[in-house]
Amino acid sequence: MPTVVLEQVSRHYCMGSVPVPALQDVSLSIAANCFTVLCGPSGSGKTTLLNLIAALDRPDHGSVTIAGQPLAALSDDALSDFRARHIGFIFQNFNLLPVLSARENIEYPLLLAGVSAPARRARCRELLAAVGLADKGGHLPGQLSGGQRQRVAIARALALRPPLVLADEPTANLDSQTGAAIIALMRQMQQEHAVSFVFSSHDAQLLAAADESVLICDGRIQGTQRACDGEAA
Ligand code: ADP
Ligand code: MG
Repeated sequence: MPTVVLEQVSRHYCMGSVPVPALQDVSLSIAANCFTVLCGPSGSGKTTLLNLIAALDRPDHGSVTIAGQPLAALSDDALSDFRARHIGFIFQNFNLLPVLSARENIEYPLLLAGVSAPARRARCRELLAAVGLADKGGHLPGQLSGGQRQRVAIARALALRPPLVLADEPTANLDSQTGAAIIALMRQMQQEHAVSFVFSSHDAQLLAAADESVLICDGRIQGTQRACDGEAA
């Protein structure tokens, strides 16, 4: 069963009185337990699309269904609950809390979800090791490199074991070597944790790392390519 289904989704912004179409008539189905990249140039609508999938925004027209749940059926409060339980998010600029250590940043969503202190400690230890930062838990984000910060953000996104993890240009603020290592880590986490991973990028090289690549241009889907069959649809 696909984990994400969009049907004829449109979304526009207003620049004063002028409507700016950001997504037009987007229909898309993303398979579960896959590593999927949304690829397109700057301004093509990637962030708008990810925000709709993340249940951070609602479309003007069309429907978004995540893990079988049509999002339009949920009130704003129910949507927030759904997001907390189902979706992890990784940002381009890491979005770590600067006054919390790496461990505390990872622990934060566990704390909000009411996980007990011993379970939180165990989960943080496990995640820090998984992202290669077992010895950096006490460091503040300011004491970590960009790549290390993004590793913390990946661990934080996985903390509550969401079935879907989204990342908006997670390598855009990193040099290409560090970016490649982050992509490899996300891929490894996707496989080891059996989650669906959807990330956006304007870097066409990253298409090679994905099971499925969705090309987006001027707010429209140009095509989908699956690594397994190599065919453009
Ligand atoms: P991408 O993430 O691929 O760079 P976006 O989804 O951010 O693309 O933007 C798609 C289009 O919507 C662009 O034309 C952009 O200028 C416009 N846009 C995005 N956010 C806003 C906003 N808050 N107000 C007005 N226009 C916006
Ligand atoms: Mg963007």
